[in-house]
Amino acid sequence: MIRFEQVVKQYADGATAVDNLSFEAPTGQITVLVGPSGCGKTTSLRMINRMIEPTSGQILIDDEDVQSVNAAKLRRGIGYVIQHAGLFPHRKVVDNVATVPLLLGESKAAARKRAREVLELVGLPGDFADRYPSQLSGGQQQRVGVARALAADPPVMLMDEPFSAVDPVVRDQLQDEFLRLQREIGKTIVFVTHDIDEAMKLGDQVAVMRVGGKLAQIAEPSYLLAHPIDDFVADFVGRDRGYRALAFAQAPDLPLAKEPTVDLGASVDEARRATDGRWLLVLDDGRPQGWIEPERITAPIEASMLHRGGTVAAADGPLRAALDAALSSPSRRGVIVDADGQLLGTVRAHQVLSAIEEVDRPEVHEEDIAPASQTVSGETP
Ligand code: ADP
Ligand code: MG
Repeated sequence: MIRFEQVVKQYADGATAVDNLSFEAPTGQITVLVGPSGCGKTTSLRMINRMIEPTSGQILIDDEDVQSVNAAKLRRGIGYVIQHAGLFPHRKVVDNVATVPLLLGESKAAARKRAREVLELVGLPGDFADRYPSQLSGGQQQRVGVARALAADPPVMLMDEPFSAVDPVVRDQLQDEFLRLQREIGKTIVFVTHDIDEAMKLGDQVAVMRVGGKLAQIAEPSYLLAHPIDDFVADFVGRDRGYRALAFAQAPDLPLAKEPTVDLGASVDEARRATDGRWLLVLDDGRPQGWIEPERITAPIEASMLHRGGTVAAADGPLRAALDAALSSPSRRGVIVDADGQLLGTVRAHQVLSAIEEVDRPEVHEEDIAPASQTVSGETP
C-alpha cells in the first residue's frame, strides 16, 4: 500500500503545487489521480519515486517512508510510464525494454529474454522486439513504455497520462488491454490522467484533485457519480453522470425479442423471405454483422451492403452498453450477444429504461470511503 500523509509541495517560486494531500493507494489496485491541468497530479506522482521531494509530510510504501530508502534503489522497485513513452530512439525495442533488468544486474541474454516475455504480455510479440521505436505506431510505442516499466516486475507502477497522446480508438484499446493485463499482474498502480472518463474506466478508486493541489474526493467510481461531495466534483465528473453511472450497473435479465435474421451470402429470395418488412439483422456464423434495409435487398447479402453503425452489447454487460446498443441501432432494436459474440436477441430502449428503474444502484457505505481530509491509518497507537 502507498500512503500519502499530509504531503505538501511548494516550488521555489512559492507556488503550492500539492497541499496537505492524504490518501491511500491499496496494494494490487489501480488508484487514479484525476483533475484539471496544473492541479498537482504529476508532482504528486513524482514524489512517490522521489523524482521530486516533498516540502513536508510523508509518503510510505508498505509502511516504509520513501525518504528513508536510497532513491536509485527505490526507483528500481517502481515502474514509471510517461506520456510519450520516452524510449531511446537509437535502441531497438528489445533493448529499450531490457534497460532496467540490465541495471538490476541481469546478464544481457537474460535481460533480453525477459524483455521479449513482457513485450508479448503487452501484445507486441515476435519481430516487434527488433524494430526501432520510430518504426512503431504511437499506440505500440506506449505499449513498449508499459513493457519497459514491467520488465523488472516491480510491485508498484506509476503512470502519468500514458495513453493521452494517442487517438481515442487506440486509447480505448490500450485501456482495455491495460485492464486485462492488470487482472493478471495485480500491481499497485497510481495512474494520473486529466480525462474523467479514463479515470472512471480504469480506477478501482478515483481521487479527484482541484487546482492548488487539494484532494476534493476519493472514492470508487460508482460512488463518485452517485455522491459527488460538492459542485466542483459534480461538475468534473460531468453533466451526464446519471447516464454514465449505468456503466457500473450490470444488466438484469433484459426481455430479449427473437429477431428475424439472415446469413451473409444469402440470396435475395432468402433475405426477402426472412424480413418482416423492417430492418433485417445479418449474421455470420451466429454473430451479428450489421443491419440491412428491406429496400436494399436487391443482390445476395454482402458485408459491404450492411449498416454497421449500431453497437452490440453483451448480455452480462453494463446497462449503459445495452441502452447504447438500442439507441445506436438503425432499427432501434439493440443487439444483445453472449460471451462468444453469438446473437441472443434484441431489446428496445424503453425496455432497457424499465430495467434501469428496477436496478438497485450500487451503494457504497460511508465507512468504506475515506473522506478527503481523513488520513486512514492501519493501526491505532
Ligand atoms: P498536473 O500534472 O496536474 O498538470 P503539475 O504537478 O505538473 O500539475 O503542476 C502543479 C503546479 O505546480 C502547476 O501550477 C505548475 O505550474 C507548478 N509546477 C510544476 N512543476 C514546477 C516546477 N518545477 N517549478 C515551479 N512550479 C512548478
Ligand atoms: Mg501532469
